[in-house]
Amino acid sequence: MYAFSIERPASVADAAQLAAAGAKVLAGGQTLLATMKQRLADPGRLVDLGSIASLSGIRREGDAIVIGAMTRHLAVAESAEVKASIPALAALASHIGDKQVRAMGTLGGSVANNDPAACYPSAVLGLGATVQTTERGIAADDYFQGMFTTALKEGELITAIRFPIPKRAAYIKFNQPASRFALVGVFVAQTASGVRVAITGAGNGVFRHAGLEAALGRSFTAQAAAGVKIDAADLNADIHASAAYRANLISVLIQRAVTQALAQA
Ligand SMILES: Cc1cc2nc3c(=O)[nH]c(=O)nc-3n(C[C@H](O)[C@H](O)[C@H](O)COP(=O)(O)OP(=O)(O)OC[C@H]3O[C@@H](n4cnc5c(N)ncnc54)[C@H](O)[C@@H]3O)c2cc1C
Repeated sequence: MYAFSIERPASVADAAQLAAAGAKVLAGGQTLLATMKQRLADPGRLVDLGSIASLSGIRREGDAIVIGAMTRHLAVAESAEVKASIPALAALASHIGDKQVRAMGTLGGSVANNDPAACYPSAVLGLGATVQTTERGIAADDYFQGMFTTALKEGELITAIRFPIPKRAAYIKFNQPASRFALVGVFVAQTASGVRVAITGAGNGVFRHAGLEAALGRSFTAQAAAGVKIDAADLNADIHASAAYRANLISVLIQRAVTQALAQA
């Protein structure tokens, strides 16, 4: 690890000021500290968000659940509010990594990092959530911009994510067994503005699938999903799975996800 300094501000305003001056934000450290230990990152100066109480917590606001950026995966998984309103989101959080990762990792860190195999980005995109930052609210459709790339500007911090409560939703992933990241993960939601399908693990970052959304908009059934041909052309191929294998996984997982969503209500 390269040498670094660390500051622990007590307010979002102070954290934003430090970040604007070039300090790197530290949330749960599950990604950032690992890259620093391997000397793949040399931030020099860290600003730890862990002492800012207002960044943690889960609350219902009208027809949405608002979750603070520093809320740990474990808290989302165990939240009675989330389980009651968006059970798919609680279930997603409960299957991230292992116990240690869930105890430390945060919603804001995951969505800021935007790993192409991470689970939360598919829920943010699949539910049509809004990423609240120190400067603005960013619609999920504008936020994710490909592998490890987002609409966040330099020094802009995520403060919370606002998830509209869907009619029904489900998330199913096929684990990469060593890391438990998604080899493919599929989030489906019936929302006020129609069916949304977000896929993670399969491409150059999370993406929506127009063909599945159209078919499921006409008929929200596993059979309708099964009738959609998944094109492997733009999907990832690596040592874990070919593009064709991932395309087949998308088809299988969306059918299971729709069946699971229908069982909810
Ligand atoms: C072994 C292992 C298994 C994992 N398995 C999964 C899995 O199955 N599914 C999954 O989705 N994830 C998985 N993860 C990822 C993990 O859950 C964390 O979400 C992820 O590491 C980032 O969150 P963090 O809070 O640790 O962020 P950090 O590592 O602290 O930060 C990550 C990046 O986000 C930036 N950042 C952090 N917070 C903010 C903020 N509020 N505003 C702006 N920028 C910010 C940081 O500057 C940094 O660039 C796994 C991680 C590990 C180590």
